[in-house]
Amino acid sequence: MEYKNFINGKWVDDHHQNHFPVYNPSTGEILGNVPKISKEQVSEAIDSASAAFPAWSKLTAEKRGKYLKRLYQLILNHKNELGELITLEQGKPLKEAIGEVVYGAGFVEWYSEEAKRIRGDMLPSSHTDKRIMVIKQPVGVVAAITPWNFPFAMITRKIAPALAAGCTVIIKPASQTPLCAIKLIELLDEAGFPKGVVNLVTGDSKEIGETFLEDFRVRKITFTGSTAVGKHLYKSSAATMKRLSLELGGHAPFILFDDGNMNNAVAGAIASKFRNCGQVCIASNRFYIHSSIRTEFIEKLVTGIQLLKQGDGLEKDIDLGPLIDGKAYEKISSQIKDAVSKGAVIECGGKGKSPDHPGNGGYFYEPTVLSNVTPDMKIYQEETFGPVLPIIEFKNDNEVIEMANATTYGLAAYLYTESLSRGIQVSEALEYGIVGLNDGAPSSVQAPFGGFKESGLDREGGHYGIEPFLETKYISIGL
Ligand code: NAP
Repeated sequence: MEYKNFINGKWVDDHHQNHFPVYNPSTGEILGNVPKISKEQVSEAIDSASAAFPAWSKLTAEKRGKYLKRLYQLILNHKNELGELITLEQGKPLKEAIGEVVYGAGFVEWYSEEAKRIRGDMLPSSHTDKRIMVIKQPVGVVAAITPWNFPFAMITRKIAPALAAGCTVIIKPASQTPLCAIKLIELLDEAGFPKGVVNLVTGDSKEIGETFLEDFRVRKITFTGSTAVGKHLYKSSAATMKRLSLELGGHAPFILFDDGNMNNAVAGAIASKFRNCGQVCIASNRFYIHSSIRTEFIEKLVTGIQLLKQGDGLEKDIDLGPLIDGKAYEKISSQIKDAVSKGAVIECGGKGKSPDHPGNGGYFYEPTVLSNVTPDMKIYQEETFGPVLPIIEFKNDNEVIEMANATTYGLAAYLYTESLSRGIQVSEALEYGIVGLNDGAPSSVQAPFGGFKESGLDREGGHYGIEPFLETKYISIGL
């Protein structure tokens, strides 16, 4: 199938007929081709978003909310079709993919309501003949760049608040997973959004990124992806002083204290590590287990992992799909090899399956548990983004807090304890934007999602998520 881009309310192809394929990571089959759009056409998308901005931003918040409400309903009506597309191009099990659609739709619903709650201030002045009025206004044209691991929800988490705030948008989805983004645009079109308000471009990410960066009319970039690309965008945005929201990589610690509920912790560990085959920014990446309960934890964990079924996400009862590509496979294999060479022990898994040539199946890696992991190993220092669970022992609270914080990442952290006092004190001491206290799945539409340190800037979700799409204007009124 040949897919198209969406610019100024029209489905368009690349002028030069350049395309690139989208693969099914479970089978290696080509699902379709999408345009490798030219720089000039990216500029046309910016023209279109700029032209649509004045009218869209002047609509009442209630009217913008109504468009989003219609979109929300359309997404829910097509949740199975969207879920299937996600599984086909991304690989996650169908039940997870449909879950992602419902989660992603939740942002559209939330911001359809939040649009009405943008508010300003009237402040007392120090002059009797003056009044201070503070209003919020949309930042302008927004470029939204998104990753492949949550190819649907990462888009709605950005564009729903942007549109609610009165911004117009150009979406650049990940090249591995543009198909559910294209389907979302079809639904936006059906919901009746005016032309130019939402545009979609696919192609060479460097070239598209540069076009966004160079164009002064793009007033904001909202990006989810790797820390390396996030830093590049941060640096390069200085030239036109763009607003930036960055949702970047993570390296989450998971701490099980000796008073933690063992069964809940095992279930939480499996949920937080193996969802989407570990390809989740908030996936637990370093498991600190109190030395007194280490053996029991490993036994229960391995028993739980043995119940997981891996395969093509469209098959029945699958818990883990494939890895996205060979690069991900290589990274995991090399982390495991390095860890074992430095003394780590494989408690279960440890093997992968890669196709002998493209089109002959996907890259699969078994859920793997490594014990005796130490700080000199790559897996201790790097984001894994795969189904490998490394175990490190600890003896006391101060030691584990120090180890958990000894990283440049600061997205999510998890801890299991039955002590309220310890739970609150350790949560406060962890240098992370999201803490799962006895909770292995903390993402939710209402809550602020985002990281400390090199895990990013700004928050997405809830009432926090609309603020980054607004400018604050102060009007000084002389009486
Ligand atoms: P990535 O390589 O940084 O790609 C993310 C997006 O950026 C893709 O659309 C990519 O396009 C585009 N891109 C790449 N180079 C670019 C450039 N020079 N200029 C402009 N755009 C560019 O990340 P990924 O591998 O897709 O995603 C995995 C990473 O995302 C992990 O580190 C994960 O932790 C992070 N993540 C974070 C969150 C969060 O909320 N904090 C959520 C999900 C994922 P192409 O695909 O066309 O190259």
